[in-house]
Amino acid sequence: MEFVLTGATLIDGTGADPIEASAVYVKDGKIEWVGSASDLPEEASNAPQEDISGKTLMPGLIDAHIHVCYNGEESVFVLLEKDRDDLLLEAVHTVGKILSHGVTTVRDIGGEKYIEMSLRKAINAGWIKGPRMKTSGRVIAMTGGHAHFIAREADGPDEVRKAAREQIKAGADTIKLMATGGSATPGQDIMAAQFTVDEMKAAVDAAHAMGRTVAAHCHGTGGIKNCMLAGVDSIEHGTYLDEETANMMVENGASLVLTLGVGNPDLESHPLTPVQQADAKRRKPMIEKGVVQIRKTIDLARSKGIFLGCGTDAGGNPLAPHRHSMAREVELLVANGIPEIEAITIATSHNAKILKWDHEIGTVEAGKLADLLVIDGDPLADITTLRNVVSVYKGGEKV
Ligand SMILES: [Zn+2]
Repeated sequence: MEFVLTGATLIDGTGADPIEASAVYVKDGKIEWVGSASDLPEEASNAPQEDISGKTLMPGLIDAHIHVCYNGEESVFVLLEKDRDDLLLEAVHTVGKILSHGVTTVRDIGGEKYIEMSLRKAINAGWIKGPRMKTSGRVIAMTGGHAHFIAREADGPDEVRKAAREQIKAGADTIKLMATGGSATPGQDIMAAQFTVDEMKAAVDAAHAMGRTVAAHCHGTGGIKNCMLAGVDSIEHGTYLDEETANMMVENGASLVLTLGVGNPDLESHPLTPVQQADAKRRKPMIEKGVVQIRKTIDLARSKGIFLGCGTDAGGNPLAPHRHSMAREVELLVANGIPEIEAITIATSHNAKILKWDHEIGTVEAGKLADLLVIDGDPLADITTLRNVVSVYKGGEKV
């Protein structure tokens, strides 16, 4: 199977200037050649051509922080009452929707009953439609820690090590640790550190020994510092980054995965259910403070050169539904002072790197898998056009 998409403005995900009137030659699911349409090589001339002039062609978006097993509309306590079949069938619908919104890869960073592992198997086998997936299995928290109601609770280095190995055994690519309190857990202080350095180090050693990464939920500065001392690979949220912890992140080569949508939920564009209204009311002071704080963190992180990724945290609480949440995430990066081209780079090639998948996805370059997104409009002029999805290709297949 081969084809050529011609005429579009190409944003390749590397951060390079766009190519006007581009051509992308796709063969057997991979990108064979990319360039200016006028330079299309001889070998591609017999392939069927589709003229997509006036559109923007870019890599499929990558969501580096999502929870596909939860719908992001109901209370987690309601979701936990449901049986696995019901959750799984709804999640099948969710992953199809995520893909149709132009997100061709996700990293599930906290699953439920290993439903995410079943979904990944079904997607890879072609039984259902959905994005490529990396998974973390169950989150690991200290006893009573953040999201303890869904977590594998573990205390002390030996038990945390074992908990990490359990997730790897179940199929995890990444280990997710809870390093501070979180706003989704009622009654918690988001500034308070949770796991000790030694506990996290045990998980990091176990994960790295088996070629896995470690991602840690962090808001407060103390938790970020503990993570850097333990060698954690990515800080998720990272709300209260300061000068010292920023320097430690640069020194460690750690990434910061921003989750702006969940810290600034979209309360206007759709009617809220009573559950959502109650959650919005409970979290209002934390959210208002967080929105101001995160701008400072983003400016600091960029000035220090911290490697940035992004994720929606969709599914993570009742105010984080799976809608155009990744497009909105990129809009919020731009609203926080990040230029459009850089925001797209973060949501594509940077996230690919954080997922350790950059050898195959994240950019429109020869040799990569043909995960492509066709947008009606120019996202560099108006970032909200990322919601205007015309078509999505995953491995060269139109979905
Ligand atoms: Zn999350």
